[in-house]
Amino acid sequence: MIDDFANPLPRRNSVGVSVGNVMVGGGAPIVVQSMTNTDTADADSTVAQVAALARAGSEVVRITVDRAEAAAQVPRIKERLERIGVNVPLVGDFHYIGHKLLNDYPDCAAALDKYRINPGNVGFKAKRDTQFSQIIDIALKHDKPVRIGVNWGSLDQELLTKLMDENAESEAPVSASAVMREAIIQSGLLSAERAEALGMGRDKIILSAKVSQVQDLIAVYADLARRCDYALHLGLTEAGMGTKGIVSSAASMGILLQQGIGDTIRVSLTPEPGGDRTREVQVAQELLQVMGFRAFVPIVAACPGCGRTTSTVFQELAGDIQDHIRASMPSWREQYPGVENLNVAVMGCIVNGPGESKHADIGISLPGTGETPSAPVFVDGEKVTTLRGEGIADEFKQMVLEYIEKRYGSDPKSNSDAA
Ligand code: SF4
Repeated sequence: MIDDFANPLPRRNSVGVSVGNVMVGGGAPIVVQSMTNTDTADADSTVAQVAALARAGSEVVRITVDRAEAAAQVPRIKERLERIGVNVPLVGDFHYIGHKLLNDYPDCAAALDKYRINPGNVGFKAKRDTQFSQIIDIALKHDKPVRIGVNWGSLDQELLTKLMDENAESEAPVSASAVMREAIIQSGLLSAERAEALGMGRDKIILSAKVSQVQDLIAVYADLARRCDYALHLGLTEAGMGTKGIVSSAASMGILLQQGIGDTIRVSLTPEPGGDRTREVQVAQELLQVMGFRAFVPIVAACPGCGRTTSTVFQELAGDIQDHIRASMPSWREQYPGVENLNVAVMGCIVNGPGESKHADIGISLPGTGETPSAPVFVDGEKVTTLRGEGIADEFKQMVLEYIEKRYGSDPKSNSDAA
């Protein structure tokens, strides 16, 4: 019985879409993506940030293409990234004049791996359908997929008004927020149907329907998932800063992923001024990893500490190891295939320390307050040594590195010894 609750529901069937060399949906692993916040016309900054996001693990990166100067730089940005070995698919984010930019800058249209279209601001009234069609025609010509990305902040007002009017006349009217959610869903589905009518295959269409409230996001995507089989891009818009943005994104997307919904995710965090943009990639990876969908970086399990841990050794060691692992991952991915599955435990005292450490690949149980100043180390469930004295932290870090080398290094003899 308990097993029934220990696994997510099967992934929803969706039509796979190739975005450059990355498959989204169709049973492919859930893709992590992110977006730059540089001015795309500033190629130097954009190349640097796309490269940083890709090296942090973003598998698709979106850039703003808002004006001619930005569109002109896109092919150069792509070339420069390729020259430094960054082959991450690039998505162009278009609003209002996307049809014109893609038409006037065919090299930009060719360089991008996907176009993001927001049906709420692709154009107004009679122009809307024409401009939408122009973007789809260009995508077809260049054989590119599109994301039809509805956002509640720029929702198609004509559609919303029509649904509000119908609701007002209905015998059983629903709440205004339910109408708004329906308008978001219909906006995405109607645009996707229009793209299909223009000749675009379902294998070229990804849908998203972003809102800023957790419960709305869950309701919108649960309904959208039932009503179509397009690949779905999950994300909470305006998630916010710091812990609020992380918690909101994790709560909403975690519930949807658990229901088998979502083929690619983006965590939209508002960075602190001067903050690191790659944080959103880290959060997205950790969400997928802690839920058991994918492994990106070795996990360091650390107890929260309590009154039994009055020294800072334990926090410092857990933090040091986690930082060292994350900083080393870009090279370790090549050097130590499979290292992302490693589990390290750093525990603060004897209460749970040995038990948790035994379950990790390598774990240490540090001495709590009043305990003998010794730290048993467990490797693959067996106690292998007890560290003592001032150098416990450094010695344990060295043991972790040796374990990684032995288990995941290229020497097949060493690997089999550690298996
Ligand atoms: S393992 Fe020890 S130090 Fe860590 S939270 Fe539990 S009792 Fe406290």
